[in-house]
Amino acid sequence: MAKATLLALTGSMLATMALVASAGAEDRDIETRSIEYRGINAYRLLQIGRQSAKWYGAENEAPLELTYAYVDRRMSFTSARNCGSMQPIRAVLNGSDIAPEVFRREAKHAFAIWETVAQIRFVETGDVTKAQILIGAQTQPLGRAFTNVEIDDRNPRDGPQAIARSLICFNPTVRWKVGYDGDLDVYDLRYTMAHEIGHALGLDHPGASGQLMAYRYDERHQTLQPGDIDGILKLYRPTRHAARIRLRAEQEASRQAGLRNAGTGNATHGPSTGSLGLGDGRARE
Ligand SMILES: [Zn+2]
Repeated sequence: MAKATLLALTGSMLATMALVASAGAEDRDIETRSIEYRGINAYRLLQIGRQSAKWYGAENEAPLELTYAYVDRRMSFTSARNCGSMQPIRAVLNGSDIAPEVFRREAKHAFAIWETVAQIRFVETGDVTKAQILIGAQTQPLGRAFTNVEIDDRNPRDGPQAIARSLICFNPTVRWKVGYDGDLDVYDLRYTMAHEIGHALGLDHPGASGQLMAYRYDERHQTLQPGDIDGILKLYRPTRHAARIRLRAEQEASRQAGLRNAGTGNATHGPSTGSLGLGDGRARE
């Protein structure tokens, strides 16, 4: 049976334009419905067609186990809107003098960010043919990084559709770094990976800033924000630490918002320096 393939995104200023360009009346309707909250609790579920999407495990499986692998050869995904062709991630790392083990470590941290609040366990596998999330370098450079979410349409569901596979691809022709340094032209790998994993799990951008899932790269957040947590818990079960982590994130976000409103601190509305978008190209079936 054919699997419907779909979209999802991340990556560059060009993409923001693509988003605007594709926003017809129908898109606006979907957007309105899928943004559950605004402000510090903003999140948005990925809409594929008119439905959200998530991973399903076996009945009562907790935590949900998802496998991921780094592509070890050139691979093509003909029905993918994004990441249609990938090569090993070293193409990305070589250009930025980042060692493979450093990238692996950063990726582990990125997966762990989501594992702390949602009952999902990510397990690395060497089997690229079976892995549920594949990570690699783009062969046709575009933007910064993208995610492609593929739907399993063999078993239609009443609720969110079932994700069959997600592809995450990085642009090997731009520079990457590890850690924040204020240079918004060079993206941090851990942050970018965490953001893309959010897409791979079924989240979209709630807006330009304020959340890890926001589309602008501004080096303000390294962990999940209240909206990211609410969004992921709309789709997956909470860990026993989720409520505490969420409370802490909300207190911190409120404090930051208070600082901005009071005009103190160095934060202002909008990005601290350049507004290089992390906006995504958004394709719809
Ligand atoms: Zn994105």
